[in-house]
Amino acid sequence: MKIGFIGLGNMGAPMARNLLKHGHALQVFDLSAAACGALADAGAAVCASPKAAAADAELVFTMLPAAAHVRGVLAGEQGVLAGIAHGVTIVDSSTIDPASAQEFARLAQANGNAFVDAPVSGGTGGAAAGTLTFMVGASEALFASVSPALGAMGKNIVRCGDTGMGQVAKICNNLLLGITMAGVAEAMSLGATLGIDPKVLAGIVNTSTGRCWSSDTYNPYPGIVETAPASRGYTGGFGADLMLKDLGLAAEAARTAKQPIFLGALAHQLYQALSASGRGGLDFSAIISLYERHGAQS
Ligand code: NAD
Repeated sequence: MKIGFIGLGNMGAPMARNLLKHGHALQVFDLSAAACGALADAGAAVCASPKAAAADAELVFTMLPAAAHVRGVLAGEQGVLAGIAHGVTIVDSSTIDPASAQEFARLAQANGNAFVDAPVSGGTGGAAAGTLTFMVGASEALFASVSPALGAMGKNIVRCGDTGMGQVAKICNNLLLGITMAGVAEAMSLGATLGIDPKVLAGIVNTSTGRCWSSDTYNPYPGIVETAPASRGYTGGFGADLMLKDLGLAAEAARTAKQPIFLGALAHQLYQALSASGRGGLDFSAIISLYERHGAQS
């Protein structure tokens, strides 16, 4: 299949490589010449614009930082919608707000195209291994038509509902993740201050009712989980600024829906403080550094 792919960053580049590995022909575009060059070396055809990358493509992917970038790439003068053939589907895997995804679906439809929101979880490791989870917002028929290509990049492809529901699933999951990580950081810090061995405390939590992914797989206290970013100075992993962005998306969606998110609002402020302290580039589990008496060395 001939596929247009726009956005070759930390996630997009390995995703595009997996499409190549599965035998697809790729037409790629990114503002970064270096990112394009790396994909050219892997066998992709580099294009001069999103419009050119979409021309003749049978499917188009976008993997961009935020909704404003997706809007520009789709609707700009040199955008995807200016070059894409009638009837071709656009799949956006960026994490954006559900309302923007629904707006882009209307734009695409007015152009004679379909739009699918398919944000991912699994991080850069999952993108490289081809084991991402895709949370897809699309009709059943559209979902069936894009699933084979998604299967080249992920192993868990889930239809969450119609347009925008993939983004709803993504931001609700990350809202919860931001809250649980802050909660585990708080409990671990209090325990350490009160004198318990953090390893003993983590062991109790992880066999008790406080257990969650943030405690047993990605514990923010250094030395508890060898493979977690906390055990390597909070490098790699999922950036605190990306978590801040996702909590902002949840806050905006909640505001629009007039739905309270008490804990989410607090978590949003905690990650804002972490970012303001200059640590937004660290893994999001560095939130424990806000509890500085026994927090992370960062
Ligand atoms: P990134 O910043 O590494 O990559 C974004 C790429 O988009 C860059 O190469 C940039 O040059 C390119 N770009 C920006 N504007 C462009 C434009 N107008 N035209 C063409 N290219 C443009 O970001 P990432 O980590 O790859 O994340 C992409 C999306 O995936 C984000 O929405 C992010 O929230 C989401 N996400 C990231 C992770 C992660 O662990 N990094 C996990 C899940 C979801």
